[in-house]
Amino acid sequence: MTAFIEGYDAVFFDLDGVLYLGPEAVEGAVDGVRRLHEAGVATVYVTNNAARSTAVVAHHLAELGFGAQEQEVVSSAQAASGLLRQELPAGSKVLVAGTDNLVEQVRLAGMEVVTTFAEEPVAVIQGYDPAMTWPRLDQAAIAIQRGARWFATNTDSTRPTEHGLVPGAGAAIQAVRNTVDHDPEVVGKPFRPLMDEALRRSGAGRPVFVGDRIDTDIMGAHAVGIDSFLVFTGAHGVRDLCLAPVDGRPTAIGWNVESLFEPRRTAAIADGVATCGAVTVRAEAGNALLEGDVTKREAQLDAAWALAQLFWDGSVSTGEAVFARLDLLP
Ligand SMILES: [Mg+2]
Repeated sequence: MTAFIEGYDAVFFDLDGVLYLGPEAVEGAVDGVRRLHEAGVATVYVTNNAARSTAVVAHHLAELGFGAQEQEVVSSAQAASGLLRQELPAGSKVLVAGTDNLVEQVRLAGMEVVTTFAEEPVAVIQGYDPAMTWPRLDQAAIAIQRGARWFATNTDSTRPTEHGLVPGAGAAIQAVRNTVDHDPEVVGKPFRPLMDEALRRSGAGRPVFVGDRIDTDIMGAHAVGIDSFLVFTGAHGVRDLCLAPVDGRPTAIGWNVESLFEPRRTAAIADGVATCGAVTVRAEAGNALLEGDVTKREAQLDAAWALAQLFWDGSVSTGEAVFARLDLLP
């Protein structure tokens, strides 16, 4: 049987929930990445988090055993730097509401970094900063109200930590959004600039994006027209998969990074019946019924894929009884 990954020359990885969770590597991720390298598949680590430098991200990945090189890491702060260079004349004043890493990237773009609206910045850029203060948000808000263009590295509303969720960059951006009448131009997933930077950097002909979130990872892949692979080791689960909008549906699914080496999961669909592996899901009056043994996780993934097909073609609108049986998946 052909491994799913055989059709691709590069893997773009989301980090949180795919390669690590808090301080720990995700099960199967280190071995999966090592096998990709052995197979000659390029790896690119694509992060929405603008707070940390690519060197720090690479070091963190290396510590966990991924053997990552700094040039393989693409961050929203780097992509923001490229976007500012493209959109603004050199030497433009830019107010940065983010960490020193973002400040450095804005300087690298050839911009003059300022901190107050009184300095009349032509643009504001916001990024995740765990030390953000209210007065800095005030400066950003007033600068935008006075006509500065507004950029954001990413809009993730939360950030997972080993203790629980904490407010993400999106929360600070929403605070500013409450004071103005338009949205920022966003760099990170699911928007194009970060994905374009990853494509440019890798030079890949046929990459696949591996992620754990529909709304950022899978939609980001769709935004640039590349394939995607949803894993179930992070944020999103079967219900998210089934309810995904057309531009949030992955090319394939698997449990974790090592699943890239398994054959592609396919479903046969006819007359409201979807079969995947030894599992069948049947649509009856809009409801999903599951037939087959789903005591093993692989069979539950087959069932999830079959069920998703029926949601996506409209033959099913509820699947509570099936969701409840897929208890080895999020
Ligand atoms: Mg993630």
